[in-house]
Amino acid sequence: MQVTTRTMNKSKHIALVAHDNCKQDLLRWVKEFEDKLEGHTLYATGTTGHLLSKETGLKINCMISGPMGGDQQLGALISESKIDMMIFFWDPLNAVPHDPDVKALLRISAVWNVPVATNRASAKFMITSPLLSEEISIEIPDYDAYLAERIG
Ligand code: PGA
Repeated sequence: MQVTTRTMNKSKHIALVAHDNCKQDLLRWVKEFEDKLEGHTLYATGTTGHLLSKETGLKINCMISGPMGGDQQLGALISESKIDMMIFFWDPLNAVPHDPDVKALLRISAVWNVPVATNRASAKFMITSPLLSEEISIEIPDYDAYLAERIG
């Protein structure tokens, strides 16, 4: 796959998602780093987003609830390079009904080289990185080259 680059602005677009058993963990994390999150544009699946905005007052662009299609909405934004990073506290101990959507969201994040944190420790590393407030360039698939290869 040929690659190209895209620029992430100083102010990032951050997706927040937590499965039900992990929502309180994510809420604690968001409260801990609320000052850092404030300067960025936040997105979340429906229930997670409404909980976080009710409990913190942060402005969050809410998708619909994950099992109802919210994971797929975030995946679509990622494939359009509209999300810069994702904090996704998925539940490693319980099955969820929308497991295919969860896999698809993680997969499309990997395709587009989106940084993903899946627990409080990795999320802490990510949110405290100096890169959070810098303009940076990341590699992404070169879609034009991909298309040209396929249609000749
Ligand atoms: P929810 O979705 O925020 O609507 O609970 C989370 C998820 O994708 O499982």
